[in-house]
Amino acid sequence: MSPQNPVPARRKQAIQKALLKWYQANHRSLPWREDPQPYHVWVAEIMAQQTRLDTVGPYYKAFLKRFPDPVCLAEAPLEAVLAAWSGLGYYRRARHLHQAAQVVVSQHDGRLPSDPQLLQQLPGIGRYTAGAIASVAYGVPAPILDGNVLRLLSRLFDLDTNASTAAGKHQLWSLAEALVPTDSASNFNQAMMEMGALVCTPRSPKCLDCPAKRLCHARRAGSVDERPVLPAPKRAKAQSVLAVRLRRKSNEALLMLRHPAMGLFAHMWSVPTWPPPWQMDGKAGPLPTNRQLQQKLGELLGTSLTLGPILKRLEHQLTHRRLIVTVREGVMESDAVKPEGYTAIRFVGKNDKLEQLGISTLTRRILK
Ligand code: SF4
Repeated sequence: MSPQNPVPARRKQAIQKALLKWYQANHRSLPWREDPQPYHVWVAEIMAQQTRLDTVGPYYKAFLKRFPDPVCLAEAPLEAVLAAWSGLGYYRRARHLHQAAQVVVSQHDGRLPSDPQLLQQLPGIGRYTAGAIASVAYGVPAPILDGNVLRLLSRLFDLDTNASTAAGKHQLWSLAEALVPTDSASNFNQAMMEMGALVCTPRSPKCLDCPAKRLCHARRAGSVDERPVLPAPKRAKAQSVLAVRLRRKSNEALLMLRHPAMGLFAHMWSVPTWPPPWQMDGKAGPLPTNRQLQQKLGELLGTSLTLGPILKRLEHQLTHRRLIVTVREGVMESDAVKPEGYTAIRFVGKNDKLEQLGISTLTRRILK
């Protein structure tokens, strides 16, 4: 494979033809494919990072209904954006989307640029997302490389370089760049993603049905199961956390706290936990006893409280850690005061709508 010409012309044309033909006949009907405006592709791509497509669909529709264009999104309060994102997880994506919409309005007249370099200057848009918006929405022949494309290319070209290294990434991006056609970049890039999702799957790829089976070097070499070459995933550290659904004694209103704009669960609302989020440093430690916990939370909240029995235990995966959460209920003798480390406090009554607050997936699970 020459660095200047990583794919010979005939092979390139054969791969393009096979994938485009397959895509025309087999692509899924997804909401953002019905009207692939740049804003729609952008929202869909950001939502689809780290979230399954079948989960994304309803959120995508509701989000566009609430924020139909970059101007509406830019003008909305962050809290409303986080509330619309609530349940999708990885809330940094929503904060970046909101910030980027403000830049699009202030610097690009409310229209997303088509140049991948300019797109990459927006918060939350990396090389992959820039390539996806530029190619899918504007037809710019920009390369894309997500997990699906990485796997497909690694197998088609039987790449034995570790795909997580700089050399491996460079090789993959060069192939993606060499393959994207100038006249059908949108369909071709979507075809690669769709092939990776539906045919060239991580386990048990459907090689017999694959439109590129005659062009696949890994299939010929018998190395499909060894491609892509990636390091073994690290197991996230586990940490024990206590979460308490604390209610007012008088009217059972639920205590909610808002996190600061930076850090874990930034700007989201949650019930009090021990340790509080800014002390969750990833080290596993023993949970405090019932008495210790009442004392710690009482000090944190400036009130005395009584804890009830354990309601449930749940496991929750964050990017770099796994939380083992014990959920309990408790009653406050008097109203809590906003503790240090949080930006707001409120008491949510039975008739208030919790969905209108930005709450994380973890908090949803705790409150369920
Ligand atoms: S033949 Fe199999 S391994 Fe090769 S691209 Fe097709 S599905 Fe993937």
